[in-house]
Amino acid sequence: MTFHESLPPLPLHPPGPPRRVAIVGAGVVGLSCALWLQRCGHTVTLVDREPPAAGAAYTGAASFGNACTMAFGACIPVASPGVLARVPAMLLERRSPLAIFWRDLPRLLPWLAEFVRASTPAQVERITAVLGGLLRLAEAGHAPLIEASRADALIRRAGCLYLYKTPRSFAAAQREIALRARERVGMEILDAEAVRAAEPALAPLYHKAVRFTDTYFVDDPRAYALALAETVRRQGGTFVRGEAAGIAGTPEHVDVHLGTRVLQAERVVLAAGAWSGRLAASVGDRLRLDTERGYHVMFPDGAGLLGAPCCYPEHGFYMTPLRSGLRAAGTVELGGLGRPPRPVRTDTIAAVARTLVPGLSRAGSDWLGFRPSMPDSLPAIGPSPADARVIHAVGHGHIGLTLAGITGRIVCDLIDGRAPPLDITPLRPTRFA
Ligand SMILES: Cc1cc2nc3c(=O)[nH]c(=O)nc-3n(C[C@H](O)[C@H](O)[C@H](O)COP(=O)(O)OP(=O)(O)OC[C@H]3O[C@@H](n4cnc5c(N)ncnc54)[C@H](O)[C@@H]3O)c2cc1C
Repeated sequence: MTFHESLPPLPLHPPGPPRRVAIVGAGVVGLSCALWLQRCGHTVTLVDREPPAAGAAYTGAASFGNACTMAFGACIPVASPGVLARVPAMLLERRSPLAIFWRDLPRLLPWLAEFVRASTPAQVERITAVLGGLLRLAEAGHAPLIEASRADALIRRAGCLYLYKTPRSFAAAQREIALRARERVGMEILDAEAVRAAEPALAPLYHKAVRFTDTYFVDDPRAYALALAETVRRQGGTFVRGEAAGIAGTPEHVDVHLGTRVLQAERVVLAAGAWSGRLAASVGDRLRLDTERGYHVMFPDGAGLLGAPCCYPEHGFYMTPLRSGLRAAGTVELGGLGRPPRPVRTDTIAAVARTLVPGLSRAGSDWLGFRPSMPDSLPAIGPSPADARVIHAVGHGHIGLTLAGITGRIVCDLIDGRAPPLDITPLRPTRFA
């Protein structure tokens, strides 16, 4: 039985009239929404501080610097009983994959309280089932966009390895492996010898690995965003460079306020990633959205060392073999959007990566990015309760690249007045309000 499921075909004649849709945020989620909406005959305008375009750095978007994996097997939420038990030790350990700016603790408490509530075994089972349903449709959500954007050359079908150093850590992973198996995630267990044969450049620190067979990765997420953006433009979509300050409905239309300018639309999609909270509040919605900051370090000389993305869950980052080098990307730092990057985080990623892949030498550029994260690891997708003409498409946390396509399809279904391909009640944007 294959993991991936197909989507119901779009009707030849959309049920509703073509709409003028403004999309706030041109990360991979906003771009994927734009392409699906264009497929259904709508006119799109994307608003972004720095839209993806030739010459634009685009480094502000999480979609720029992620670990590049289409993690179709990533149905386990971040909050789980096991993670919770390890949190205190992790927060005190300098080189830990989880860190916090302690001064942010009071502000973070409501988010953390929901995180704890989401971590019970019953909640983990429920959330895994919801994510499993989304992830089984995720590839079908991307496929037409990749085809229309001629982005297939950026897709590398190499699977992905999760590595475990000891019998104990592998035993501790069994519950997650069983949950993934329940969701039909394609996996093979490799022993140390099979890992050595598959990835000879890895230091032999592993005891066993899980190979995810139904995944692929994107060779360059910035190039991927550029390809999607170019297709949006080619199909008549427009990009407005500017900072959206608020969204406000009037009886006739919905306005996106951009400094001195106002953009009028019939529908607005809010896809501004980790910055969406303030904009949602301007509509009248309270989202329990925060950011899990993450980093990457590039190793320009490490391009050919690995065959597939490799991750030791205990270190919290992937090592993904891009053509431009090896990218070590991940870890979580709680501390909001305003604080500067902390070099100790990237130094740690670089040092650990060199231990795991001894052939790595000079580290090149590094990057700090902002995952848009809900406490229960489920995205917030659906109409605003305050104004149903505004659709939220935010909160994709660790798997926004993976879920971008299916999010676009769901948003398109909602704007067309069709039932989405799965029950989106658990994704209700204001579920924590
Ligand atoms: C280190 C790291 C590794 C990751 N690895 C993976 C992975 O391997 N696989 C995976 O699936 N996901 C991964 N992710 C998560 C993924 O990158 C994000 O979930 C995804 O990129 C979110 O996309 P987005 O479009 O919602 O937000 P973003 O990409 O952040 O885009 C939001 C856009 O909105 C714009 N914007 C914000 N506010 C405003 C405003 N007021 N006015 C105008 N424009 C605005 C920003 O400029 C930005 O371009 C990773 C993330 C990190 C940080």
